[in-house]
Amino acid sequence: TAMPSLHVFDTLESEVRSYCRSFPTVFSKAKGYRLWDAAGNEYIDFFAGAGALNYGHNHPSMKQKLLEYLLEDGVTHSLDMATEAKERFLERFRSVILEPRGLSYKVMFPGPTGTNSVESALKLARKATGRSTVIGFTNAFHGMTLGALSVTGNKFKRRGAGIPLHHTVSMPYDGYMGKDSDTLDYLESYLNDSGSGVSLPAAIIVETIQGEGGINEASIGWLQRLEGICRAKNILLIVDDVQMGCGRTGTFFSFEHAGITPDLVCLSKSIGGYGLPMALTLIRPDLDIWEPGEHNGTFRGNNLAFVTAAEALRYWETEHFAQEIAAKGEIVHRFLLQLVAEYPQLRGEVRGRGLMQGIAFSIPGLADEVSKAAFAKGLIMETSGTDSEVAKIMPPLTIDEPGLAKGLDILRQSMREAAA
Ligand code: PMP
Repeated sequence: TAMPSLHVFDTLESEVRSYCRSFPTVFSKAKGYRLWDAAGNEYIDFFAGAGALNYGHNHPSMKQKLLEYLLEDGVTHSLDMATEAKERFLERFRSVILEPRGLSYKVMFPGPTGTNSVESALKLARKATGRSTVIGFTNAFHGMTLGALSVTGNKFKRRGAGIPLHHTVSMPYDGYMGKDSDTLDYLESYLNDSGSGVSLPAAIIVETIQGEGGINEASIGWLQRLEGICRAKNILLIVDDVQMGCGRTGTFFSFEHAGITPDLVCLSKSIGGYGLPMALTLIRPDLDIWEPGEHNGTFRGNNLAFVTAAEALRYWETEHFAQEIAAKGEIVHRFLLQLVAEYPQLRGEVRGRGLMQGIAFSIPGLADEVSKAAFAKGLIMETSGTDSEVAKIMPPLTIDEPGLAKGLDILRQSMREAAA
């Protein structure tokens, strides 16, 4: 294979204005947990499309289903018309995901992206409650359009909108004020402070682990109490499971372990299964008050995504996949704990669970340094957190143990370099 011409890369760098993630190569092929660039270099993928590739690249049986569907001239795009591919996905989502968990949500297609799902949840919460504000949390990430951005607790991201954003209140996330201070006391006293003109919000939107925010994990007790506050005040609870859902933390929904039942759930990224754009908003049935046309969009009917999404649900027909994720998560966790202990001078802190883990560094720039060193050795990993302080480990959930071990070994070498 030819070397990628420098010209191509320069063009990408200079013309794709809004693209901020620059790994200095041009990729051409991908399979499972591996990617290859045009020069034939192989990379292990510990990034997995920011959570859109939980089942890896070009999954064989999803590809097969897709090819069969294309060869049969299956409907590709159908807006909101009913199609067999859509019905099959819905039927399987209900029988494989919702019913076994005792959940009775209505399923809505809000548009192709996670942001679309967040927007739909915010809108519906406002309409259903007749209230207008929504509480989001410090360091949260919910998307880049005005509504989703208004509940995104990241100054840098919000700056893209130029002016202060309205209809939102930002509250400290679990642990944000320090481990011994209770951020929910703060929230409760805020909500009780009606004398000062505080009006009740329509909803509270939360990630159970903040992915972009730096793998900040809310405790089970905190999530349960948050749900309790919502119930007591008749505030809707929205869980944004766009990044943590579809098995990333070990269970299909990231809130299952906490035993909470959100009123609205946002899903996207890996719901399409093959990296195809797709999103769902799960709605408590009595909240489904929209008239036809009150929330629509052209690309809600991506049938290719429905085909692969239905196939992806095969992973969830038994307990097996969740057990595999837990076992691999345990390997990663033990490895990371050992690694930070080997390099105490780097002051790394292990965060996360399942296959959503990482190391937070208190030394500025270190996570980026580790990620750069890893890339040079053939491992793709991203950083997250407001100051890019967290090196993020999120391989496809389907990665095998040798692949995992190989990636972790590159991480160890990269840490060694950073420590030198
Ligand atoms: N919510 C969360 C928790 C996310 O991580 C993301 C994407 N990183 C979004 C929403 C937005 O999703 P999308 O980029 O598909 O619009």
